[in-house]
Amino acid sequence: MNKEKFEANIRHILIEIGEDPNREGLLSTPKRVAEAYEFLTAGYNKDIEEVLNNAIFTEKYDAMVLIKNIDFYSMCEHHMLPFYGKVHIAYIPNGKIVGLSKIPRIVEVFARRLQVQERMTQQVADTIEKYLQPIGVAVVSEAFHMCMLMRGVEKQNSSATASAMHGVFKEDEKTRNEFLNLIGMNNL
Ligand code: ZN
Repeated sequence: MNKEKFEANIRHILIEIGEDPNREGLLSTPKRVAEAYEFLTAGYNKDIEEVLNNAIFTEKYDAMVLIKNIDFYSMCEHHMLPFYGKVHIAYIPNGKIVGLSKIPRIVEVFARRLQVQERMTQQVADTIEKYLQPIGVAVVSEAFHMCMLMRGVEKQNSSATASAMHGVFKEDEKTRNEFLNLIGMNNL
């Protein structure tokens, strides 16, 4: 990011919305916005292979691994407003497992960029599919979208759900339902 250019653009936005970028409270705002955006879009500079480095292990375990309620914060690419919520992930290993602490970090890599919820959900599932080649992987996300809530587009407090499934979760209804029951979403 060219911070100088970024800050100049934020100053222009402030002028266009009718603000005075030189008033005291706004003087450092362009700099703060630049820093916030650098953090919120850090996913563009993260490499999944680096994140997973040395954290994939050979293991005979072949039951469902479930990680519920992973918090995430992202920004919708249509309005550049936040959407945030929880991700639930399950996979059934096929000889390879990943360190549990790495799972939320995979979510972070894809959340910290401009996104649509559906693609973010799919990218997390595809990544686990690619690096673990499990018997199956399932990802469900639930999110509140500020572009809906703040603009009053939809009923307040309504959340959006997206899911992505591979392997046995896609093919076998019983396994899929077991996962959905475990995350309390049996009517998905
Ligand atoms: Zn939006």
